[in-house]
Amino acid sequence: MRMDTLTCEGVSDEVIVQNQRVKVHIRCKKCGETFILRGVRDVKGNIETGFKRCLCDNESDFDIETLQ
Ligand SMILES: [Zn+2]
Repeated sequence: MRMDTLTCEGVSDEVIVQNQRVKVHIRCKKCGETFILRGVRDVKGNIETGFKRCLCDNESDFDIETLQ
């Protein structure tokens, strides 16, 4: 569990954009299994889905695309 989300350096008076909910399509490049998950796109464009690993224990080798 990362705790660095608790730090708020550089906070300004600008309106904070609400995190954007997106559907994410994940395909394992090793076994071809696909997953549809709901994720949240943060202000940096990173998408957090909570997805950990595929059924085949692959943790890093995926095709990931967002669905509208
Ligand atoms: Zn897999």
